[in-house]
Amino acid sequence: MDLYSGHINRLIDELSGLPGIGSKSAQRLAFHLVNLPQDKVKRLVKVIMDAKENVRYCKECFTLTDSEICPVCANAKRDHSTIMVVENTRDLAAYEKTGKYEGIYHVLHGAISPMLGIGPGDIKLKELIARLEGDVSEVIIATNSSLEGETTAMYIGKLIKPTGIKVSRIASGVPVGGDLEYIDEVTLLRALEGRVEM
Ligand code: ZN
Repeated sequence: MDLYSGHINRLIDELSGLPGIGSKSAQRLAFHLVNLPQDKVKRLVKVIMDAKENVRYCKECFTLTDSEICPVCANAKRDHSTIMVVENTRDLAAYEKTGKYEGIYHVLHGAISPMLGIGPGDIKLKELIARLEGDVSEVIIATNSSLEGETTAMYIGKLIKPTGIKVSRIASGVPVGGDLEYIDEVTLLRALEGRVEM
């Protein structure tokens, strides 16, 4: 498309590569950005760079955090023997919002997907297994109810079962294919409370 300047086109290209941004939104955002005052654009760029440079994985649960250990793992009041396995930091945030879960987490950063060529070695799975050497009484698998999430849950269940550690799967009250972050807190709590041992 040569309707716009090369710079605008490049900006639209970059923006449309972001998740959830279609070409129309990308155009709207691009024009919005070039019309912003210089200092606002500078601030936005700086915030993005700061986040990129300072956010890292928690050494224990692998969620994204500003410090070596995230606030959940650093909290001695949490039940460190119960680990909830989630696909990403957004899912962790969804459960944290309920304010009712007292255990800690493990963030996989993805799910097994043979279709997309994502195998067990591509997510934080061996890191989870390493954590089981500690004092763990239950692993709650809270991956999404998508095909990938279910495949991952089954795979983890099979890995953990022989260790004798209790392993459970959140109830299927979570809509199939539903992203955990879009599900309301009541549904999340029901799924957690109704978890079944694998
Ligand atoms: Zn952590």
